[in-house]
Amino acid sequence: MINADPQELAKFSELAHRWWDPESEFRPLHQINPLRLDWINGLAPLHGRNVLDVGCGGGILADSMARKGAQVLGIDLASKPLKVARLHAAEAGTPSIEYREVAAEALATEMPEHFDSVTCMEMLEHVPDPSSIVRACFTLVKPGGWVFFSTINRNPKSFLFAIVGAEYLLKLLPQGTHEYARFIRPSELAQWCRDAGLALHSTRGMQYNPLTRRYWLSADVSVNYLFACRRPE
Ligand code: SAH
Repeated sequence: MINADPQELAKFSELAHRWWDPESEFRPLHQINPLRLDWINGLAPLHGRNVLDVGCGGGILADSMARKGAQVLGIDLASKPLKVARLHAAEAGTPSIEYREVAAEALATEMPEHFDSVTCMEMLEHVPDPSSIVRACFTLVKPGGWVFFSTINRNPKSFLFAIVGAEYLLKLLPQGTHEYARFIRPSELAQWCRDAGLALHSTRGMQYNPLTRRYWLSADVSVNYLFACRRPE
């Protein structure tokens, strides 16, 4: 049994040709990318590291990590976004990047303790069993390595901001991008990390101002948030 929802994968495949258009449905990912990239690079400097990006899609984060000097493998289960990612890397001449269509759990069996860092951004809320992805990330990272997650909190405010606001009012994302029931409370993600053996290092929230159309990182994890974890030595 593959831990993936075919409808979710189809959604991302359908839009894949617009992935690298910064004014498309993927604008939010383009806008948040410098923030998360700096945050990751500040905690676990990317230059010379071997990094895995789980649920890489069209490769916005994966490509930018490779440009910081990391050797990057991006994995996803939707084939069109992966094609777009490979095409972009070839056109842009991105160094040291590879993409594969493989499940995180399968790669964990193939390459345990292989990566210095693992990133898994805006993906857990699209997966039937996110705790299984968290366990796979633990297995894939080397002892002492870093695992970074980002996802969306589950509460009335996040329903209002991430679904009503982002999809219906501001139309930042297509309607149906997110399903409220799949949102993940920080306490739930923290529990899955602990159960997997990952130690939570720090959390950050991501804020958006619709008037200035700017994002920034803060301490407020009530809607979008990030986790930095470490696998103990
Ligand atoms: N992580 C990227 C893309 C986020 S969009 C970024 O932040 O820029 C969510 C991605 O998760 C899509 O590319 C989708 O195909 C992928 N995805 C959804 N379910 C998945 C699964 N079970 N395994 C791997 N990737 C999955």
